[in-house]
Order: sequence, then C-alpha cells, then structure tokens
Amino acid sequence: MDRIKPKYLRSLYDLKAILMKVFLTFAVLAIVGTWWIEALESHINPIDRIAYPIMIAVFGISAFWLHLKPKSLRKVEYITFTTFASYCFVDFQAMLFGLPLFIADLYSVATFLQWLPMVYISAFIMLEIRNAIIASGLFYTSLVIPIVSYRFIQYVPDLASTQIYLTAMVVCFAHPIYILMLLGIALLKEQLVQIKTQAENMSVAATTDYLTGITNRRFATQSLDHLLELAKIENFHLTIFVLDIDHFKEVNDSFGHDVGDRVLICLANFLRQNLRDSDILGRWGGEEFIVILQKTDLQTACHLAERLYERNSEWVYEKVGHVTFSIGIATSRPDDTTDSLFKRADASLYQAKQNGRNRFEIAV
Ligand code: GH3
Ligand code: MG
Ligand code: MG
Repeated sequence: MDRIKPKYLRSLYDLKAILMKVFLTFAVLAIVGTWWIEALESHINPIDRIAYPIMIAVFGISAFWLHLKPKSLRKVEYITFTTFASYCFVDFQAMLFGLPLFIADLYSVATFLQWLPMVYISAFIMLEIRNAIIASGLFYTSLVIPIVSYRFIQYVPDLASTQIYLTAMVVCFAHPIYILMLLGIALLKEQLVQIKTQAENMSVAATTDYLTGITNRRFATQSLDHLLELAKIENFHLTIFVLDIDHFKEVNDSFGHDVGDRVLICLANFLRQNLRDSDILGRWGGEEFIVILQKTDLQTACHLAERLYERNSEWVYEKVGHVTFSIGIATSRPDDTTDSLFKRADASLYQAKQNGRNRFEIAV
C-alpha cells in the first residue's frame, strides 16, 4: 500500500514541518533581537511590552511542540498565524488612530510596515489556499475599513497624523498586489504538486502488476539488469527463481477464470509473506513469477525453496484448496546477461515440470 501514496508528498510534509521549526526559531530570535535593541534605546512601544513576551512564548512553545510532535504541524500553523495576524491588526489600529499603545514616530511606523505584509506571506505558506485567501481578505479588510473611516473620525488632523494616514493609505493599494502575487505562487505550487502526483502514480502503474499488486515484468527486468551489473562490480551472488503454477489451466477450467485470478493473488501474497524485504518478487506473465534473491548463493536459495514448498503444502487457496508450483533456480555467473540467466532458470523450470512438478531444479 505504501507504493500508492506518493513518497514525495510525505517528504513534503516533513520538509514543511522542518521549515516551520526554522521559521519559528528565527521569529523568536528576531523578536528577542528587536526587543533588546529597543530596550537599549529605551524605545519600546507599550503594546510591545505585552506582545513581545506573548509572541516569544507562543512561537517558542510551538517550535518545541512541533519538534516533539511533527503531526501537530497544522495546529501550530493556525496558532502562530492567528497570533501574528492579531498582533499586526491591533498595532495597525493603534498606529492609525494614534492610540497611546503605539509611539507613532518614524522608527515605529517604518519597522511595523516592514513586518505587516508578512501576514499574507504566512497565510499562503501556512494555510490551505482557500483559507489563505479568506484570511488575507479579512486581514486586508480589517486595515482598509479603518483607513476609509479615518477621515470621518479625525476631523482636524495634525501634520504627523496626516503623514501616517497617507502612509496607511498606500497599504490599500500595495497589499492587494502582495495578495495576488502570493496567490499566483500558491496556484503554481498546487499545479506542480498535482503534476508530480500524476507522474508518481503513472510511474507506480508502469511498474506494478494490475492483478496481484506486486511488481511487473518491466520492473523485474530492470531490477535484474541493474543487480547483475552490481553483482559483477561488487562480486556477489545473485540467484533467481522462475516459478510456474502447476496445471493452472485445470484450475481455470474447473473453477472459472475469476477463481484462477484469486489463486494468482493468493500465491503472490503467499510469496511476499515468505520472502525477505530485499527479495524482488515480480509477475513475469500469466501464471509465472520471478523472484530475485540479492546476495544469495545457491545453497541459501535452495533452503528458501524448500521452506516455500513446506509452507505451501499447508497454504489453502480460496475455493481451490491446495495448489502447487514448480521452480527453476539459477545463480549468476560473471559473464551472465539478464537473458542468459533467465534462460538457464527457465530450462530448470522445464526440467522440474518434466520430473513431476511441485519441485525445484537447479541450473548447472
Ligand atoms: P503446467 O503445469 O505445465 O504449467 O500447466 P499449466 O496448465 O499451468 O500451463 P499452461 O501453459 O497450459 O496454462 C497456463 C494457463 O494460465 C492458461 C491461461 O489461461 C492461464 N492464465 C494465464 N494468465 C492468467 C490470468 O491472468 N488469470 C487466469 N485466471 N488465468 C491465466
Ligand atoms: Mg503452469
Ligand atoms: Mg506457464
């Protein structure tokens, strides 16, 4: 089943969790740094005296939580986004309306406006596209409505507040561009994920046998080509089984094709359960299978074959009862090609059939 879910999607999630931890750690460092510089200059906004420790705590705990439980990524994303967006919202209103929470001088206004678009960036990085659009839209509205209503509240603006007002006005025009650009990037990323998912599914389909779910002849051949080369370089033994069900035609004739199919699936499961993870099992075609045993000499392979026969004699196939198979075994030689190795195993299989079936023969 692992082959069905694209591996890279799992790794994308892991990568996101790691990036999030890095973001949060840097956010904590950035706040601590800013706080420290502002403390040296005795220039801390009253709101930040409360907001800095809260954000350090939320981001720090979130990073630690994510480290302990990477599965909590989604929750961490929502919590950190909401914390940051709320801070920016309150700060913006304080700046615009000249509330005593915010010292509206050049330093405070300039630094705050630098961080403000980070709300949209965080939304598109941390939330799903739909939620990122909603969150960005709501946040933008929460800035624009006060800007528009400002004129009606501040009847006699002084020079400083007029400049802040004009600066805030630019937010109305600049922020939609941020949102649209981020949306564009997010849509492109989504397309890329879709294409990669399709490519991964197609690659799995191209190497999997549709009926039994094990690897197909294409994959087995490619693996054998590759392993034979490796066996020559690293000087190890490679042994293959060519396995064919005995009198399978009779199974189909007596029980029907559907039952025959179930037998093939059942045998594939039986083999998978009784082989090592490193052994490659493939359906060669029809009722014929191939097993590639890496770094396995003839003696070990024969023990494995004996064990398979022992266990198969106790294995019950749905509706059919007992089913037997014959195996041809061949071990690689330094001058072997995939074709020559397979031919030797196939000749042994023929011998096993000739010698009465339900047995294995070894290529000499
Ligand atoms: P032997 O012991 O000599 O191997 O005899 P056999 O009957 O197994 O061999 P034969 O080559 O005469 O018949 C193989 C049968 O396998 C014939 C074919 O209809 C059947 N077969 C091949 N592929 C499938 C499949 O995907 N599903 C089913 N149900 N039958 C299949
Ligand atoms: Mg057969
Ligand atoms: Mg056959």
